[in-house]
Amino acid sequence: MNLTPDPGHVRLALHGGAGDPPPDADGRAQREALRAIAVQAHALLVAGGSALDAVTLAVERLEECPLFNAGVGAVLNRDGRPELDAAVMDGRVRACGAVAGLARVKSPVRLARAILERTPHVFFAGAGAEALARELGLEMVEPDHFITDARRRQLAQARKAGAITLDHDHESAGDRPRDDDAAFGTVGAVARDARGHLAAATSTGGLTNKLPGRVGDSAVIGAGTFADDHSCAVSCTGTGEAFIRAGFGLAVHARLSWCGWDLDRACAEALHAVRRYGGRGGCIAVDRDGQLALPFNARSMYRAWVGADGRVHTASRPQDAD
Ligand code: ASP
Repeated sequence: MNLTPDPGHVRLALHGGAGDPPPDADGRAQREALRAIAVQAHALLVAGGSALDAVTLAVERLEECPLFNAGVGAVLNRDGRPELDAAVMDGRVRACGAVAGLARVKSPVRLARAILERTPHVFFAGAGAEALARELGLEMVEPDHFITDARRRQLAQARKAGAITLDHDHESAGDRPRDDDAAFGTVGAVARDARGHLAAATSTGGLTNKLPGRVGDSAVIGAGTFADDHSCAVSCTGTGEAFIRAGFGLAVHARLSWCGWDLDRACAEALHAVRRYGGRGGCIAVDRDGQLALPFNARSMYRAWVGADGRVHTASRPQDAD
């Protein structure tokens, strides 16, 4: 796919996590943050920027925003430490980069992007990934940089309940303090640029109270993050183990490529598989024709998108788009 450049081809979607926040949480702050970042990424695309640059920029900005479970404000593992995962994929040639278990790299998605562009490899984890980040000159921080008081309290609640929780699992986290409701989920972006190229990126702190060393779907290419110009770009959020078992991104790709399904049906079927494997969550996806799909099987998914009308929309619940 290499269309004559046309801003009319541009599509964009962002997510800020799916889950079951309390019924009265309106998510206004998260939607405003998503809107502001979508405006920036959309402007880049309309000016002729690549899908890969747009998703990297959007996810980096979302990592900097403490309202989401990625970068600053990421959830904490059982030992009270952040362990950050991220991935990025370029649909043109399926080039990709992924990182897992980071605590000192300021922007995990920037390291994933550097891996894609500057190494012969795809996936780095832990100490080796952080050494590579230093070698490549990326900005490093102390782990405390990512930790917020809300996340400390959220971990204490999860420990008390003996639960490993999705960031936004209001119910399973027990009587979580009200201000934790502001802290929502994993972040991701998918885009189609003016030439019709696709890209996806995802970044997360994973699950609250997760076992140290655990890696979720966000960093797993073909599961939580996937892009191929021949089919679609996908970024997921939810119970990572189930999304990995479903092979989510590749499952959607396969249905489009080999079964002739449309994007809605392919995403819905992959979400059914997630449910079968004991998980829930959602995804954002764009196909090569510019169709968008943003399905979820939780109560809510923070999301922003730009479709054929060229306008930025946001929503959290199924019916509250503006
Ligand atoms: N999918 C992420 C993980 O399992 C968590 C999330 O989306 O909130 O690491």
